[in-house]
Amino acid sequence: MNAAKRGLTPQEYRLEVQALVPPLPVVRLPLAMCRGLVLAEDVTAGVSLPPFDNSAMDGYAVRASDVVSATAENPVRLPVADDIPAGRTDVAPLAPGTSQRIMTGAPLPEGADAIIQVELTDGGTENVRIDASVLPRTHVRFVGEDVSSGDVILRAGTVLHPPQLGLAAAVGLAGLPVRRPPRVLVLSTGSELVPPGDPLPPGHIYESNSVLLAAAIEEIGGKAVVLRSVPDDVATFRAVVAEHVGEADLLITSGGVSAGAYEVVKDALSDQGVEFVQVAMQPGGPQGRGSFEGLSVVALPGNPVSAALSFELFLRPALLSAMGHSRTDRPRARARATAAMTSPPGRVQYRRGRHDAGHVEVVPVGGPGSHLLASFAASNCLIEIPVGVAEVAAGDEVDLVLLD
Ligand code: AMP
Ligand code: MG
Repeated sequence: MNAAKRGLTPQEYRLEVQALVPPLPVVRLPLAMCRGLVLAEDVTAGVSLPPFDNSAMDGYAVRASDVVSATAENPVRLPVADDIPAGRTDVAPLAPGTSQRIMTGAPLPEGADAIIQVELTDGGTENVRIDASVLPRTHVRFVGEDVSSGDVILRAGTVLHPPQLGLAAAVGLAGLPVRRPPRVLVLSTGSELVPPGDPLPPGHIYESNSVLLAAAIEEIGGKAVVLRSVPDDVATFRAVVAEHVGEADLLITSGGVSAGAYEVVKDALSDQGVEFVQVAMQPGGPQGRGSFEGLSVVALPGNPVSAALSFELFLRPALLSAMGHSRTDRPRARARATAAMTSPPGRVQYRRGRHDAGHVEVVPVGGPGSHLLASFAASNCLIEIPVGVAEVAAGDEVDLVLLD
């Protein structure tokens, strides 16, 4: 309760949330499931790339010494002894004074040391007219040029994007050791909430936090499990949570954590392992975190912008860190505010804004209200006004957290 009086800084609270989400276990997943995940161990190639000397062009395998005199005016003619499509492996060595027609990716026949690309020939199949000379090694891709068998090709900690996944496949790996995605339960609370798509009775609003939070979880590679929202009823809330304990790494709730009379999350989880505190920020002051029946819980305020900001500032870095990412922070910038803003004393204020391409200017979007979801949706950054700054004048430089 001391913490509630004192008010934690956002940085302090962020560390507390992070402590609730320890590093995720390492599992081996098929490549198709690895995109965006973090490699947990160094990976060594079991084959070389290329695995054998092969042709980089469609053309003719030759001995360079057989065609040194070839020009367009004085071409050299060679018999075409064989035809080597990609995948063929039973080709005889290249006899001196002959050629073999060869396709891109086909193994270089023994004795050949260069490829004449088809465009420099008449394309013949019995005999070929060669209009240019080549240096030895021309258009040959040599074994191990890219990767030698036994090389470390990917380091632990690498984020697996398409090129890294392609490389793993190229050395013959079907899966990789990664920190598995977190499974996160999302539970909205509020007797006024109606699912989008249903008719809207008087006094009700559409439930939007679970869609926003699930999308934010999935965007960083997590698995969101959205539970049906619950009314402000402690017994129902506890029953729904109890049903899903053990299924996930984390439960994120929204709503029911502030100072009102029907604060369902606070009422259900206070003194049950979850502590409710004030974080010195706006929006998103009231927060809760802890563990309920062994399940880590982060309880966010219900206002949509508060919930979104809380995810952004606390949960996003915590989940990224648990997944093994070393970069968990959004990029930041400084820009001139185009309009004046005020900020409450003793709190960090996060306003929403739109910065230009060069981060020269930032336009505040909408007011400070935590219900202004359309303003948030129209913004591409947060404007961070630190404790101790009560007023920002138009033209002042401000700190931005870039969301785009
Ligand atoms: P609470 O934190 O429960 O007091 O909610 C604060 C405000 O956010 C109220 O106006 C709620 O109606 C609204 N709210 C709470 N949960 C949601 C939700 N899941 N979707 C949209 N608005 C919500
Ligand atoms: Mg509520």
